[in-house]
Amino acid sequence: QVFKLEDYRPSDYLIPETVLTFRLSPENTIVVARLSVERREAVDPSTPLVLAGDGPMRLTRVAVDGRPLAEQDYAATQESLTITRLPSARRFTLEIETQLAPAQNEALMGLYRSNGVYCTQCEAEGFRRIAYFLDRPDVLSVYTVRIEALRSDAPLLLSNGNPVESGDLPGGRHYAIWHDPFPKPSYLFALVAGDLGVIRDSFVTMSGRTVELGIYVEHGKERLAHYAMDALKRSMKWDEEVFGCEYDLDVFNIVAVSDFNMGAMENKGLNIFNDKYVLADQETATDADFANIEAIIAHEYFHNWTGNRITCRDWFQLCLKEGLTVFRDHEFSADQRSRAVKRIAEVRTLRAHQFPEDQGPLAHPVRPRRYREINNFYTATVYEKGSEVVRMIRTVLGAETFRQGMDLYFLRHDGQAVTIEDFLKAFEDVSGRDLSQFALWYHQAGTPNLAVSSSYDAAAREFVIDIEQSVPPTPSESRKRLMHIPLAFGLVGPDGKDIVATAVEGATVEGGVIHVRKRQHSVRFSGIEARPALSLNRGFSAPVTLSATQGDDDLFFLASHDSDEYARWQAFNTLLTDALINAYRLLLGGKTPVLAPRLGRLAGKIAGDTSLEEAYRALALTLPGEADIARDIGKNIDPDAVFTARRAIAVAIARENKEMFSSLYRDLHAEGAFSPDAASAGRRALRNVLLDFLSLLDGGAGLALSHFHAATNMTDRAAALTVLAHVHHGSPQAVEALAAFEKRYAADPLVMDKWFQIQAGVPGPQTVESVRALMRHPAFSTTNPNRLRALVGTFSSANQTGFHRADGEGYRLWAETILEVEKRNPQMAARLATALRSWRSLDPQRQAKAREALLRIAATGNLSADLKDIVERTLA
Ligand code: ZN
Repeated sequence: QVFKLEDYRPSDYLIPETVLTFRLSPENTIVVARLSVERREAVDPSTPLVLAGDGPMRLTRVAVDGRPLAEQDYAATQESLTITRLPSARRFTLEIETQLAPAQNEALMGLYRSNGVYCTQCEAEGFRRIAYFLDRPDVLSVYTVRIEALRSDAPLLLSNGNPVESGDLPGGRHYAIWHDPFPKPSYLFALVAGDLGVIRDSFVTMSGRTVELGIYVEHGKERLAHYAMDALKRSMKWDEEVFGCEYDLDVFNIVAVSDFNMGAMENKGLNIFNDKYVLADQETATDADFANIEAIIAHEYFHNWTGNRITCRDWFQLCLKEGLTVFRDHEFSADQRSRAVKRIAEVRTLRAHQFPEDQGPLAHPVRPRRYREINNFYTATVYEKGSEVVRMIRTVLGAETFRQGMDLYFLRHDGQAVTIEDFLKAFEDVSGRDLSQFALWYHQAGTPNLAVSSSYDAAAREFVIDIEQSVPPTPSESRKRLMHIPLAFGLVGPDGKDIVATAVEGATVEGGVIHVRKRQHSVRFSGIEARPALSLNRGFSAPVTLSATQGDDDLFFLASHDSDEYARWQAFNTLLTDALINAYRLLLGGKTPVLAPRLGRLAGKIAGDTSLEEAYRALALTLPGEADIARDIGKNIDPDAVFTARRAIAVAIARENKEMFSSLYRDLHAEGAFSPDAASAGRRALRNVLLDFLSLLDGGAGLALSHFHAATNMTDRAAALTVLAHVHHGSPQAVEALAAFEKRYAADPLVMDKWFQIQAGVPGPQTVESVRALMRHPAFSTTNPNRLRALVGTFSSANQTGFHRADGEGYRLWAETILEVEKRNPQMAARLATALRSWRSLDPQRQAKAREALLRIAATGNLSADLKDIVERTLA
């Protein structure tokens, strides 16, 4: 079944109030839903009420206004409950009783058990696996929830909203009642019951209300939740200061569970998290883990306004809450850490995940018009590109008008389920601008390209920038319309300072931004005394690709002098990418790759430039990954040659800077107590990048092993282990470190994930076999999403030479695993299946093998809608 945006119709019936009772037990949970139903004014009383259902759920009773329905008055299937005989009164009560077995629910959607804890995941359409309901985001209801369970099994009973009442029941059971005064869609419903530890804190909001905060984790792990709590309080404060958003309930609870299909979920007042994004200390978490925890805690908290108070009319509008909330969490992290470093990291992520999606068979607009399975649209395009689009609105309007637009959006739509058009209208109304061309960013898939060239006329003292935009065709959109692209730029004079120049002719240029709206623009600047270097797409103002005819001399100049730190990083990164692609081409032509000495020297200069933040230097020195290089080459990729070329360039950079890197590596050695703050993390990052280079030289394995043994935190330990496993695979040092790590962390699943992940990433053909062997390791399990992502996910999406082994063995392992996982957890299987989304850019032999694996999955009978959708679109 295909769902279409234009088919949207408001529901005939509404459910202003929902009263749920849960009698929990692992194999037979009873759910009683008492719904106050309201027929809309104009709707005929003979119109049947059709509620959605899904999965193995048993209907045991249906009653209207207290009277059980006769058999001929309703029809129930797994997918729906249709009630054909209803009272003529517009309001009536519907009571539905269903029975479920949470312990048998391995799809991790609806109500399930994770490590003995009852928990729920309802977004997008999981509520219908708990009760028949109008399970669509535009039906908002006020919930009251009563939970009953054995006290010994589940001393803790949580749901959305505020606690109302609790007490004992006969037979060792007890109950709790929760009430959420804010009307919400069913996807935000949550329940947690179990035996968990807790850390508590409180937050006083800007209007002086005290909110009780709780983070619930497995007993014994309480001390690992303090960083998350700190991040939560900082998020609450930041949202008040930057967006004027205040929290609205008496309590805010977070629960960490170990089996979770994604990162976390923003259920009103009761966020449920993958424990990977809550638990951390220096022994077990890397700096990247700390940063992720901070970002995801913030993200889910920020949803309280962007997603919960104002929600989506339908699932086509997913980016309304996700793109906007990602933008908000990006800004939060930028404010908490280094803005430039955060921006560079965001761009790297966007290019690594969203660009390939946009450039392959799974491409779709930020706001899709069609879907078969909504779960497959929780994508980098909806989230990350969606965030970039919001950022561009701010660039186009300016920060102040942007904030006014947000204020108007909150004021106008609080308590509603709305669309992207409503969102854009708020910005049009505060700015008086027409955003209809800009809106194409939501409607049109594909990464736009800007071809830019420039020329300088010394005699006329004129500088001219020529820009041509194009948007490549994407599946089912062959003809594209011209977009409004805000291109931030600078003219950098010979002294390294920006030239303040006004365009005399061409596109609208406003505050350092060229507004590209037509196919071609020629922007002319006069009174330019000397030829400037052109700095383009500063701050990554638009998510586009650039084909700029820029000489190396300009790039070298910008890499040292551009006042925009993002653009300065980009200039150096472009030089590195060009060098890597050049090395690849030389290799394929049977020649030896070479590195231009001045590029090697520039790497050393950046490494040692103490005027730059350490985190920035670390990012600059991180070579583009194999997948980045492959993406930029674009077609007929030989991943083995990409690997060899990249290794050769890395070795050349290390050789060129051996002394400098070694002494800096020694100087960066940190003494004293650990702190996860950005500056300390930056030092570790830089030192570990230097280790990457130095480990490529003579004695590298020994150096990495001593780094491993000397490590006092997981960041350094994991970095050293990665170097040993990836660069010195099979060496005695690698074997020793892997064994030591395994022994030390055997009982900690989240840390064992790192051990799996590092080994899944070992380059070379033999990794297929080692992944197969690791799948039989006692710490591995195909039912836990984190384990699967660490081992099979890393292997298939981050190991270019292993996964794309020329004989197709990597694809075979991948297909087998997907088919096994999909029987239990279709969503997880569909996620793993996206790993071959760029298969058409491989060389012909690999393409044939990849196609074979995809066809094998497609030919399997009884595929879930989730997996079928991904595989068919990938093959199309
Ligand atoms: Zn979100």
